[in-house]
Amino acid sequence: MRTGLAVLALATIASACGEGGGGDKVEPAGGQQPYQAPPARALDSYATKLRAAHAASVAAAKRWGLKKVPLTAPEPPEKKPEITTRDGFEVDGHRRLGLPPVFTTVPTKEKILFLTIDDGEEKDPAFLRMMSELKIPYSAFLSDYLVKEDYGYFKKMRDGGVGLHNHTLHHPYLPALSRARQTREICGMQKVIEKHYGERPALFRPPYGNYDKNTLRAAKSCGITHVPLWNEEVFVDRWEYREWDRSLHPGDIVLTHFRGRDDWKGTMPDMIRRFLDRVTAEGYAVARLEDYL
Ligand SMILES: [Zn+2]
Repeated sequence: MRTGLAVLALATIASACGEGGGGDKVEPAGGQQPYQAPPARALDSYATKLRAAHAASVAAAKRWGLKKVPLTAPEPPEKKPEITTRDGFEVDGHRRLGLPPVFTTVPTKEKILFLTIDDGEEKDPAFLRMMSELKIPYSAFLSDYLVKEDYGYFKKMRDGGVGLHNHTLHHPYLPALSRARQTREICGMQKVIEKHYGERPALFRPPYGNYDKNTLRAAKSCGITHVPLWNEEVFVDRWEYREWDRSLHPGDIVLTHFRGRDDWKGTMPDMIRRFLDRVTAEGYAVARLEDYL
């Protein structure tokens, strides 16, 4: 649902962009017009700003080779949805032990998706520019053995408002490890992120999506509240799906990776282009996962 302000904003964008120009420029009334009220000027400058913002979006979409301007996500919900563990994804005693929920979709009726990017191998400056110019939100799930090559790259990401989250120190297959070693992998990464980026993450994603009861107990013990997995994965040349219907659904979490030409037949911007062109064509906007959890 949109707020009144958002509706006004959209209406203003539509009229600002629909006109050939000039029509919105109100001639100042005569010298002593008593109703030259500030709100009218304020609205005019608001419309001017919106028009400038829209022009910037069109230019950015063009510059990055998108077929269409990405849709803007609705305002975040006032009341966050209740997140529960997906059927079949529970561990023994999940609810009784109060373990963090494991889920692949966020309950919402809005046509929105959440983009999550894992590991941290590729550190492409063009990707940072692309995402900030297009204003596409995403969340990063980082593994220290890759991130430590250049902590500064992810600091720029954080400074741009991206949530940095936990994907373990060394990316092991966690269910093969003892509870103590799992705790070192997960809680150790909490400390690394806090040390370099100033905040302990609330979100954790186990490598390969594999976890057991000890994983969730370890995660909970060092402050993790949610374990988002994914419902689709996007690569530079294809999509993969968890569901048989091979479609996007409202609230789906989409996974991709920080990868480039070493692993893929293309760059991160190429992958984002594939992602956004499809998402926009199907009427979805990309929203910020942290706003819903
Ligand atoms: Zn991973």
